[in-house]
Amino acid sequence: MIPYGRQDVTQADIEAVVDVLKSDYLTQGPVVPRFEAAIARYCGVKHAAAANSATSALHLACLALGLGAGDWLWTTPITFVASANCALYCGARVDFVDIDPFTWNINTAALESKLVEAARCGRLPKVLVAVHLCGRSCDMRTISALSQKFGFRVIEDASHAIGGSYDLKPIGSCQYSDVAIFSFHPVKTITSGEGGMAVTNDDGLARSLALLRSHGITREASEMTRDPDGEWYYQQIALGYNYRMTELHGALGLSQFHRLDTYVAQRHALADRYDLLLADLPVTRPAPDIGGYSGLHLYAIRLKVDQIASSHEDVFRGMRTSGIGVNLHYIPVHLQPYYQRLGFKAGDFPEAEKYYSEAITLPMYPKLSCSDQDQVVDALKKAIAS
Ligand SMILES: *Cc1c(COP(=O)(O)O)cnc(C)c1O
Repeated sequence: MIPYGRQDVTQADIEAVVDVLKSDYLTQGPVVPRFEAAIARYCGVKHAAAANSATSALHLACLALGLGAGDWLWTTPITFVASANCALYCGARVDFVDIDPFTWNINTAALESKLVEAARCGRLPKVLVAVHLCGRSCDMRTISALSQKFGFRVIEDASHAIGGSYDLKPIGSCQYSDVAIFSFHPVKTITSGEGGMAVTNDDGLARSLALLRSHGITREASEMTRDPDGEWYYQQIALGYNYRMTELHGALGLSQFHRLDTYVAQRHALADRYDLLLADLPVTRPAPDIGGYSGLHLYAIRLKVDQIASSHEDVFRGMRTSGIGVNLHYIPVHLQPYYQRLGFKAGDFPEAEKYYSEAITLPMYPKLSCSDQDQVVDALKKAIAS
């Protein structure tokens, strides 16, 4: 089976992890801060806070932005459930904005009309999670302008987008957002095993992220309610969690980070080759990303289902039967049973549901060979024709 994604672990990665195992610190040592500094420098952002997953980093970002009971968080339905669940962890409520049929990201025109309506009923969101689907940035300039007009904060879920750029700056520069989140799960562009990171230019947010990922405990005398009892002293000043990244994970992530630009370039070469091989097939790709450079975590296509005899499900099953580990990113979050219990129903976000009825993610990862790729395309042709 050719999988849809696969990590690339080198001898240097293995040695970096073994070095940590032989060192004094398995957690809370010097390696995670080095990984954070490397990512912050790469993104051109002031602060980075590593966490044990992007899901944890999203939760921390929501808490740091003050999201709580009575607040709303909005996001796109075409994302991994974590982009929405982070609001529910904070006791806030979730709503969605439909996608743009051409970029597959959140539709900023739909966002604007929903904001106008929400302003009228006094239920504006406190936070918007902008998800850069497949690695392509959302229209952050428009989102940022809307956030100023309507007074909400912006989290970029850049789990797919590390190594990409938008408006001449690296994705994660936070030029148009409060905080951006990366994931280092093994299917993502670089991995730490499990892991995530939040980046921000806001000093206060950075302090909250660091505090909340480690129990809400501080050792800074200036943050305490009174003078320390002695050198052993610490205070818990907020309710935090243990969301720390270990040194083992940090070492793997930092070692992988050195190959980030190569990986993204390899993904672009593979995507360009797919584009050529698929040119005559009844499939669509997102509209060109003018001025942007996608992180290209995923290569997804949409079947022109009305032009082919076989159904979306037939094509998907046919490819799996041919040994191609195709996937589908994503089942619209509002169609998940948990969200349906919150009141969402089929028909609420028609463009997202249409996308779901047509999308297939093809395998793409650095070690995918040309002959693997030819095999994927042959399987797709066969599945469409049958
Ligand atoms: C992978 C992913 C996450 C969650 O990342 P973890 O590191 O697995 O917690 C969140 N959002 C999106 C869009 C993702 O692709």
